[in-house]
Amino acid sequence: MPRVKQNKTDSETTGNPCPITPVKAIRKKCVDCCCGALKSVAECESVACPIWPYRMGRRPTQEMVDQFLAVYQEEEEYDE
Ligand code: SF4
Repeated sequence: MPRVKQNKTDSETTGNPCPITPVKAIRKKCVDCCCGALKSVAECESVACPIWPYRMGRRPTQEMVDQFLAVYQEEEEYDE
């Protein structure tokens, strides 16, 4: 029987007990939300989704965060 090579997880290579970073976990959630369609993640228009600024797997800049806060504060529908 052929041996199957298994990739090491982040926790195995770095010693970090957490397998992936929170931002990478968010990215995986968004890819799952869009059924694996990466283009759909990039084009997601659900700006009210709380993880939208992180959907590309990167932390948003402070300038982007400030812009989102301004929009969320203007729009009543984003209030909880
Ligand atoms: S940001 Fe968009 S793609 Fe990501 S979970 Fe929310 S709705 Fe889905």
